[in-house]
Amino acid sequence: MIIVLFGAPGVGKGTQAAILAERLNIPHLSTGDAFRQAIKSETPVGLLAKRYVDAGELVPDTVVAQIVEEALSQPRFLPGALLDGFPRTRPQADALSEILSKQNRDIHSVVNIQVDNSAIIERLLLRGRADDSHEVIQHRLDVYQAETQPLLDYYASKGVLVSIDGKGAVADVTQRILSVLPTATA
Ligand code: AMP
Repeated sequence: MIIVLFGAPGVGKGTQAAILAERLNIPHLSTGDAFRQAIKSETPVGLLAKRYVDAGELVPDTVVAQIVEEALSQPRFLPGALLDGFPRTRPQADALSEILSKQNRDIHSVVNIQVDNSAIIERLLLRGRADDSHEVIQHRLDVYQAETQPLLDYYASKGVLVSIDGKGAVADVTQRILSVLPTATA
């Protein structure tokens, strides 16, 4: 079961993915976490990714796609994956579809978590991660709008898009997500 958690930075994808991973027994794959870990460990990917992450820019598609392909080939992702923060561009969406087709799998649902921009900025400033300065947040939102948001139409046309309201208590949002996934997964 491949589920994509979709939405702007700060809508709560990571929080929900961690909860859903337990509830659904499907591991969580966050490309942002993968990059932060690589940067911390100073791996070659980390050294390459650092300036993009710090500036709120997207890491080049080929680098991201390779990380995801390697991860999804691991046995622990055999039952499926909750993708958080990937894909973020059309080339990444195409790469994902290729990776999955090689593995005889497909995206089950793309869950679009909707929160308005003013609430997002408030949440991100509270979170206080290194790339959560006001300037970088605004840039990440602009990048989301230009590069990532257009994927909504693409996934809607494939018939896999579901949208839910991401405002309110974490548990309520989890419930809304579970309610749009088929009962077999809930
Ligand atoms: P996130 O934790 O998803 O907010 O990601 C933090 C940062 O990691 C982003 O601002 C990008 O610099 C980088 N990143 C994470 N996922 C991707 C992706 N799918 N494509 C490009 N860059 C990414």
